[in-house]
Amino acid sequence: MAKPTVLVVEDNEVNRELVEELLGMAGHTVVACTTGEEAMAWLAEHRPDLILMDINLPGEDGLTLTRAIKARPATAHIPVVALTAYAMSGDQGRILAAGCDGYISKPIDVPQFPALIARYLGARTGGT
Ligand code: MN
Repeated sequence: MAKPTVLVVEDNEVNRELVEELLGMAGHTVVACTTGEEAMAWLAEHRPDLILMDINLPGEDGLTLTRAIKARPATAHIPVVALTAYAMSGDQGRILAAGCDGYISKPIDVPQFPALIARYLGARTGGT
């Protein structure tokens, strides 16, 4: 089976490098972008298995980007998981309303992270 490809959109270098390292250790291929514009350009030609989306980005924010991804037939099926420092009350609703399939809270729980990713990748294939 091909290694799953995960697109990470995160402008914070520390978070981005942590996520890249954890995904790499889990055996995934990682593509990292720091802006929505960069992510959309990459998505025009590639189909990742999962997208991890920071909400606070320079330029277009992660929710705007998620709406655009989910509005396009070519990318609508790709699970988008928000990375958010404030997954509480109203924000949780905003994240899901924008079309995100779920969210992972920052700071990232390193021991829990691989299982969360596996769950979202599993949901994609309908497997376990
Ligand atoms: Mn950010």
